[in-house]
Amino acid sequence: MTRLCASKTHQLIRLIHPVSPVRPVRWPVASTRFWSSSSSCSEEDASGSTMLRHLTSKIKATGPISVAEYMREALTNPVMGYYVKKNMLGADGDFITSPEISQIFGELLGVWVVSEWIAAGRPKQLQLVELGPGKGSLASDVLRVFAQLQPVLSAASVSLHLVEVSPVLSRLQAQTLVGTADEVVQEGRPVYRHGQTAAGLPVSWYRRLEDIPAGFSVFLAHEFFDALPIHKFQRTERGWREVMVDVDHERPGRLRFVLAPSPTLASNTLVQADESRDHVEVCAEGGVIIQQLARRVSKHGGAALIADYGHDGTKTDTFRGFKGHSLHHVLASPGCADLTADVDFSYVRRVAGKGVACLGPLSQKNFLKNMGIDVRMEVLLKNSDQSTREQLQSSYEALTDGAKMGERFLFFGLLHPSRLAQPKMATGLKLEKRSPAPPPVAGFTELQFA
Ligand code: SAH
Repeated sequence: MTRLCASKTHQLIRLIHPVSPVRPVRWPVASTRFWSSSSSCSEEDASGSTMLRHLTSKIKATGPISVAEYMREALTNPVMGYYVKKNMLGADGDFITSPEISQIFGELLGVWVVSEWIAAGRPKQLQLVELGPGKGSLASDVLRVFAQLQPVLSAASVSLHLVEVSPVLSRLQAQTLVGTADEVVQEGRPVYRHGQTAAGLPVSWYRRLEDIPAGFSVFLAHEFFDALPIHKFQRTERGWREVMVDVDHERPGRLRFVLAPSPTLASNTLVQADESRDHVEVCAEGGVIIQQLARRVSKHGGAALIADYGHDGTKTDTFRGFKGHSLHHVLASPGCADLTADVDFSYVRRVAGKGVACLGPLSQKNFLKNMGIDVRMEVLLKNSDQSTREQLQSSYEALTDGAKMGERFLFFGLLHPSRLAQPKMATGLKLEKRSPAPPPVAGFTELQFA
């Protein structure tokens, strides 16, 4: 059975065009959010921003705010938020991600989506949903694979749904995916932007996951959950205390961390009774989205693939900032720097609940290798000139090398429970009817390619 599925994934990859990448490596690896050198913040950064003044007056009026509130304001304040007002991905931005490094990444995720659709029995409808699509590169690479696999996918009515808070990025995504950002923008409506790809596939933009219509969906979230607000908690002799953000009374114009003097609602409800760490970060907002994904997958079928840097409940203090491709103090220049925290996949698994099957976390290196990145590389290298070959090789290394993105980025799957259900076994003398075993889940299973 494994071989059967392996050859199916293999066949899908072979069906993708053997052309050179349209987006070879453009960034040195040091530009990702992992290999940045530390940079001190300038005086101007530390005190100048409007966001800093906004936060300072808020804290002075009502007291210290949680790290989650600080992060939410800094990243997604509707006027001054980091994600709302700028494109942070690229040379002039603050960091670079796997889909921007190489098109192979999105192609393999496209094959994963198609293989899960096939494994679900080829439902008539396929909603591809991406959370936090950035520049739209991943969705664009997945759609190109869909177009190339049209003979396989022709039975499905396919649509693309994007969850994005940033007007700047949604315009960029529209340019990439539908060729124009001029299509109808419906202010205040759940679908705030709508368009059609050149191939006629409908694309809709939403601010929130709950606004996406129900139906069989495959969800992709790449470097999305790390951008959601986290609460931070510290174990003390008097029990768990929440870390808060306060104004620094000794250094005007600066913020500092303080511990809440007594338990907060968050410290009472979000820290597990059997927690063994001394410091924990909990992304409650991400937890709510995971629960929504799990409910949708268990009720309407489909799968969710979450890829992010993270850990399985072992790390403590991972909250960090990035600006201009360098590490940046998290409390300096809020609204002008990216803020991020590792995804705790043990928390993701816990909040997903029993209604879905969870797979992973598995390292990016193993996931991409299981998906057949080497087979795809072989085809591309064979059809490339020398300079493209070098670019391909270096992007391959960036994605898979353990010291680069290969080990620290993890893949996690939420699947409908039937997807992993074992076939019924013979009981006693009476043989129950056996249904075929479900095919292994591509990416999470080591597959032998012929
Ligand atoms: N997935 C892309 C971009 C990662 S950056 C890539 O890998 O290249 C994070 C993305 O999530 C951005 O598109 C940002 O605007 C979006 N985002 C951040 N917070 C969000 C929120 N609360 N709701 C919806 N989108 C959000």
